[in-house]
Amino acid sequence: MKIFQLRRVDDNSAAIASAAKAKTAQQGADIRFIAGGTTLIDLMKLNVETPQMLVDVNHLPLGNIDNLADGGLSIGAMVRNSDLAHHPIVQKNYRVLSEAILSGATVQLRNMATTGGNLLQRTRCMYFRDTAMPCNKRDPGSGCAAITGINRGLAILGTSEHCIATNPSDMNVALAALEATIHIRGPKGERSVPIGDFHLLPGNTPQRETVLEPGDLITHVTLPPPAAGSRSLYLKLRDRASYEFALASAAVVVTTTDNRITRARIALGGVGTKPWRSPEAEAELTGQPISEATFRKAAEAALRDAKPQSQNGFKVELAKRCLVYGLKTVTQTA
Ligand SMILES: Cc1cc2nc3c(=O)[nH]c(=O)nc-3n(C[C@H](O)[C@H](O)[C@H](O)COP(=O)(O)OP(=O)(O)OC[C@H]3O[C@@H](n4cnc5c(N)ncnc54)[C@H](O)[C@@H]3O)c2cc1C
Ligand code: SF4
Repeated sequence: MKIFQLRRVDDNSAAIASAAKAKTAQQGADIRFIAGGTTLIDLMKLNVETPQMLVDVNHLPLGNIDNLADGGLSIGAMVRNSDLAHHPIVQKNYRVLSEAILSGATVQLRNMATTGGNLLQRTRCMYFRDTAMPCNKRDPGSGCAAITGINRGLAILGTSEHCIATNPSDMNVALAALEATIHIRGPKGERSVPIGDFHLLPGNTPQRETVLEPGDLITHVTLPPPAAGSRSLYLKLRDRASYEFALASAAVVVTTTDNRITRARIALGGVGTKPWRSPEAEAELTGQPISEATFRKAAEAALRDAKPQSQNGFKVELAKRCLVYGLKTVTQTA
């Protein structure tokens, strides 16, 4: 049995100092923060994560949701997913975020899961979770069992010859469409990273998933003010209606005037190795009339670079239809 040390902290600096001694903040970390534990404890039981020390961040003062002077919102890293999804301002101004969170996991899990932990949840690729199988993300250089194996649920965008794992989070997809910023405090001070730069593509280092370094603590996430007159929606397609990850999902935030789209922010889930913002789809939508033809063109553009594997070719059309239906629905209510 593996023994690990648990350190409870109630001060951000103490948390950072404890975790700064880690060899890495990526796969193989010997020291990990623990928040809700709904990702980390699972992976420790499977021996996929084997930290020697857990730094319990549950008592840090990072549990607030605050209005910002510019009209945006600040969300503490320890805000539970349920509290965020049901917050009145989120429901009113950032509906896509509320819908994305409520489409994930179960009530019990959402009551535990935190904003910081959700940003860092790990792939559901079955080979990553099975230490008997080769997996470059878990064990760099060992190979990728999924490319020639069971890959139905895995990514078609942003893949590499070393890893095709999907980022499984629903929340992250909404945050990408909302252009969120991740705020980090670490041993070298504070920095802010746009969500598009926070997660990394697998390339030839799939074990590196984010820009985090040892000791880096996510303190909060900020959202810009909602675009005037915008509407948003999250649509998730999956094998069953609850307790299931996305095969394809779409987060859409659009503004319309006189039957035309004046602004669009689009992100896809279930298909990318990171939360997949699509500037290509946004460009196809902006300035165009609200019509099925416009939506279809945007969907074609979003999936143009898709590289399906042996079992997940169906995701190309599924993701297109998901985006088209999401756009139709959100513009009908506009
Ligand atoms: C059965 C099941 C079904 C699920 N279904 C879905 C689903 O449909 N959709 C979906 O999106 N998600 C789903 N999830 C995933 C769930 O949303 C995540 O497990 C959860 O959001 C992780 O949050 P946590 O606080 O529990 O993280 P933890 O497990 O505590 O931590 C996760 C990682 O984040 C790090 N960490 C935590 N907080 C910080 C911080 N402040 N700064 C730096 N690092 C930090 C930890 O060190 C760890 O590496 C499911 C999970 C389970 C178990
Ligand atoms: S897809 Fe990535 S996570 Fe899955 S087996 Fe291959 S390397 Fe591992």
